Amino acid sequence: MSEADQGTVRVRELSHFINGQRAAGASGQYSDVFDPAQGRVAARVPVANATEVAAAVAAAKAAFPAWSETAPLKRARLMFKFKQLLDAHQDELAELVTRDHGKLLSDAKGEVLRGIEVVEFACGIPNLLKTDFTDQIGGDIDNWNLRQPLGVAVGVTPFNFPMMVPCWMFVMAAACGNTFVLKPSERTPSASIRLAELFIEAGFPKGVFNVVHGGKAVVDALMEHPDVAAVSVVGSTPVAEYIYSESAKRGKRVQALGSAKNHLVVMPDADLDQAVDALIGSAYGSAGERCMATSVAVAVGRVADKLIGRLAPRVRSLRIGGGMEPDLDMGPLVTAAHRAKVSGYIEAGVSAGAKLVVDGRGHTVPGREEGFFLGGSLFDDVKPDMSIYREEIFGPVLSVVRVPDLASAIALVNAHELGNCVSLFTSDGGAARVFSRQIQAGMVGINVPSPVPSAWHSFGGWKRSLFGDHHAYGQEAVRFYTRYKSVMQRWPDSIAKGAEFAMPVAG
Ligand code: NAD
Repeated sequence: MSEADQGTVRVRELSHFINGQRAAGASGQYSDVFDPAQGRVAARVPVANATEVAAAVAAAKAAFPAWSETAPLKRARLMFKFKQLLDAHQDELAELVTRDHGKLLSDAKGEVLRGIEVVEFACGIPNLLKTDFTDQIGGDIDNWNLRQPLGVAVGVTPFNFPMMVPCWMFVMAAACGNTFVLKPSERTPSASIRLAELFIEAGFPKGVFNVVHGGKAVVDALMEHPDVAAVSVVGSTPVAEYIYSESAKRGKRVQALGSAKNHLVVMPDADLDQAVDALIGSAYGSAGERCMATSVAVAVGRVADKLIGRLAPRVRSLRIGGGMEPDLDMGPLVTAAHRAKVSGYIEAGVSAGAKLVVDGRGHTVPGREEGFFLGGSLFDDVKPDMSIYREEIFGPVLSVVRVPDLASAIALVNAHELGNCVSLFTSDGGAARVFSRQIQAGMVGINVPSPVPSAWHSFGGWKRSLFGDHHAYGQEAVRFYTRYKSVMQRWPDSIAKGAEFAMPVAG
């Protein structure tokens, strides 16, 4: 990446990655990428024009015939090599994530590892693509099925996981024999370019994985492209729903993961130390900019006062600073605009009558006065009709809602339009079982906050947190990135009895 002078500050200039190499932007349009801890522009990312989008799709299309015919075992061997390279470059990738996003380096390292776990899962692709075979369904006919790749797949990813979420998509798509064009978040684009370089270094053919940058216009061009067969998006619900409907109406396969409003229900019999630790980590980790962040604590019965009493001092004493510094709990928010949006929600909560127990607004970090910092905020007495309850805030703000019993907690969670993940803290196995079975959310934690499924399970929400039929990664990704075909076979020496006009049935 090249560097340009901006006053006295060096500004990195990023590139696309098309057909196996970096491609400098040709449109003359750029988008600013900030260093959130310093509050200044650190890089500029080119915005692709129609020609660049077409070149990326053309490269992917050209690579598809040979790549889709490459034996799964050979694809797996390249994945093993890619995993080795990712292991060797873990720290570098984590630094790129922290630099663009602002999250703590320790958190970014965790993200990098979760991305690598998807690659490790994809190393088993020969076994994952194995299908069913039925010998002799009748009349000397055998029946089996194939799972075949789709063609060129596109991925549109959010700012908050610049390494892990792209890996959910391009790694599984390529393992299944597809080729790929990634459109990463324009706010955190650096890691995707390095991933593409390491992919080529691992030995994958050029054109299998391409990266183009930009915003809505680039996404529209990709969705409208006739050579694109499938689209995956992870982002906010309005964007996910838009991409879902626009792609689906063009006959593309689409998977669209959206926003979250995750509840953590604390029962009176819960281990309170465990529940408080879980709430602090999952509400304020990564400054609340995680789709698995807890944003609502549901306090059941008499536990509410004790919970607030324990949470408030912890929220006030959160250690906040630049992501590259050690021994911190939370970094800055991604941009000044996002911080202003989160602050606006805090104001709205106060106006609506919720009790602001801890106010994180106005928090500054000495020596980093321009950084996009916000302290942790805690609300009590939040009601379901308030915007801070209904809408995703995506910042370090936790709302406590008080309910009388487990049935009311379940009804509250189930009435919310979003259903990404949910947790229950209790020591009652019966309550946990009822909760797991009745709750309307895609991912459930019992005494586990932010229950992100491991790479060989699958990730996704219910209700307006996911549009489409398949969850991300794991076996669900193999289903999403392949088409099912059933084959029936009978060889000529056994068809001597001639044409059959009645509906065939098992013999
Ligand atoms: P976003 O919706 O603003 O952007 C997501 C992607 O869509 C980006 O690449 C962006 O460039 C593109 N985009 C933005 N507006 C678009 C438009 N009008 N048309 C087409 N494309 C558009 O989301 P974000 O702020 O980058 O990320 C945070 C959001 O993502 C939160 O809502 C969070 O809950 C969600 N998220 C969900 C999951 C999940 O698995 N469900 C995971 C991570 C993040």
